[in-house]
Amino acid sequence: MELTISNLSKTYSNGVQALNKVSLTIPNGMYGLLGPNGAGKSTLMRILATLQEPDTGSIHLGRIDVLKEKEKIRQTLGYLPQEFGVYPSSRAEDLLDYFAVLKGITSRASRREVVEALLKQTNLWDMRRQKLGGFSGGMKQRFGVAVALLGNPKLMIVDEPTAGLDPAERVRFLNLLSELGENSVVILSTHIVEDVSELCTRMAIINKGQILQEGEPLKAVAGL
Ligand code: ADP
Ligand code: ADP
Repeated sequence: MELTISNLSKTYSNGVQALNKVSLTIPNGMYGLLGPNGAGKSTLMRILATLQEPDTGSIHLGRIDVLKEKEKIRQTLGYLPQEFGVYPSSRAEDLLDYFAVLKGITSRASRREVVEALLKQTNLWDMRRQKLGGFSGGMKQRFGVAVALLGNPKLMIVDEPTAGLDPAERVRFLNLLSELGENSVVILSTHIVEDVSELCTRMAIINKGQILQEGEPLKAVAGL
């Protein structure tokens, strides 16, 4: 599937134009959105995740009209926000099971299977009975990935995931993400060039709400 973004613009009520006619075509795989703080990355990511409305423009995932068919897109959407809202007193396994219920996985047996697979994939199986309050930043981010992966999303939105991570956790986290990009559109926003050059097959550079470059990572960065 392909994600097509056409002429997306958003101006906040304080007059800041966060997005100015953004158009991108994003194929399956890991796609980087690189830009400095304030560039408009989070605004674009929230709009793609149907959490915010643009003023104008359209978005399609394959044949789904993302802005009009919100319920449909939400069933196949995984969103990892900058900081995963943490529920400190919940155990990892219980909370993931709860999110699985919200995703519509009603059978207890399927949930048990899905939860186990995701906790193993994100390297959190040994921590499954621990409370999230005791998790490190990297563990929380990996837990966020497990939540975002529930229901096999076709579109994965990952907003500035490496911001608070130490170098070892960062590598671990990026390796986990790199396994995901094969059968879905994964968009990773970051201000760190290496996140994109190490992971992404294509990328765009955004600044002041506008796309400056689009293409393969090395060529796009060299073109600036
Ligand atoms: P909208 O134009 O989409 O209605 P608002 O200006 O009403 O957005 O702000 C929505 C929320 O974002 C408010 O809670 C506000 O405090 C917060 N906010 C305002 N300015 C900023 C900013 N510069 N960066 C991040 N969040 C902001
Ligand atoms: P990035 O994620 O690249 O840092 P953002 O999308 O958060 O960029 O912000 C883009 C611009 O919009 C910034 O100037 C920011 O201050 C402003 N902004 C973001 N959210 C809001 C909001 N809710 N209300 C008003 N201004 C906002």
